[in-house]
Amino acid sequence: MSPSTQTPRDASFQNLGEIFQHHQSFVLLSHVRPDGDAIGSQLALGYALIAAGKSVRMINEDGLPENLTFMAGSEKIETPPAAPLDVQVAIALDTATKPRLGENALKAASNAKIWINIDHHISNPKYGDFNLIDATSPATGQILYQLIIALGLPMPAESRDAIYVAVSTDTGSLQYPSTTAITYDLAADLIRRGLDVGSINSNIYDNHPYRRVELMRALLNTLERTPDGLLAHWEMRDQTRIDLALTPDDSEGLIDIIRAIRGVQVAVFFEELPDGKIRVSMRSKDRRYNVCEIAMEFGGGGHALAAGIRMTGPLKNAKPLVLEAIQRRITAAHA
Ligand code: 5GP
Ligand code: MN
Repeated sequence: MSPSTQTPRDASFQNLGEIFQHHQSFVLLSHVRPDGDAIGSQLALGYALIAAGKSVRMINEDGLPENLTFMAGSEKIETPPAAPLDVQVAIALDTATKPRLGENALKAASNAKIWINIDHHISNPKYGDFNLIDATSPATGQILYQLIIALGLPMPAESRDAIYVAVSTDTGSLQYPSTTAITYDLAADLIRRGLDVGSINSNIYDNHPYRRVELMRALLNTLERTPDGLLAHWEMRDQTRIDLALTPDDSEGLIDIIRAIRGVQVAVFFEELPDGKIRVSMRSKDRRYNVCEIAMEFGGGGHALAAGIRMTGPLKNAKPLVLEAIQRRITAAHA
């Protein structure tokens, strides 16, 4: 981290290019419970740096989730080693706050002299020595695509495919309002570079384990909606995880089912974690209901239309607190 006297620095592509040029060893990190943008960002930049002759380690606190094992080169993603790595530069990707990198991952990267922070979360406090935060970007993968192109870094097939997975999963298949012409141009360029779009989409979207559909059934049994129809929520008990032998990635994206209900403006997914904490996932269809602001009331963060919290349990205490905070916002927006 930068000394406390130093203000965090906004980095240009050029600044980062110079750091890449003048250093040899890098550790790339992403957030706990990694999604497609987290792992995709690590592989995208990681393989570009490897192709440029650098020594690169890619660490994630929770390792590679099963649903992303199809990604080319994903076997390079490691859980944190016990001893700190001997590396010059640490790069945090797609991670809104430093603690979300995870304790063991932070320890593994603790010898790095320079911290780079590349992200698209508006709530990111710029915890790096060099920060490239673009909250207008729909995915960290899109920022990395622009960085790789701007610096003329190599884009091997692993990077090309990883950028697509990162951007596709964080935009709901190029559907969310954060999707722009830049995003479609990026996708077109990746296809011209040899991306097999049919087969990669099939790996992302048509290859779910049966237990995920069983989880859907369990969640539907808990679905509730407020009388005005604006707020829908469901919950997952830890017992469901045990009964169905679920892995954390099994619930990825299921919240989109209740977000898609006509009239629903805010959707919430409550999940009991094995450690007793509660994971709250929120989606909004309207910027008047800014779920990032609600998440930040409880120490979470994210984007205006997609945010999350990890909060103290039990579920019966956490749930009404969050639902009341959302209700207050809805009432205020209609006043
Ligand atoms: P998801 O609901 O898909 O887990 O997360 C939605 C968005 O909120 C993501 O951009 C994610 O990074 C962010 N987010 C999720 N959980 C947390 C959290 O506990 N803390 C913070 N700061 N951001 C979170
Ligand atoms: Mn992201």
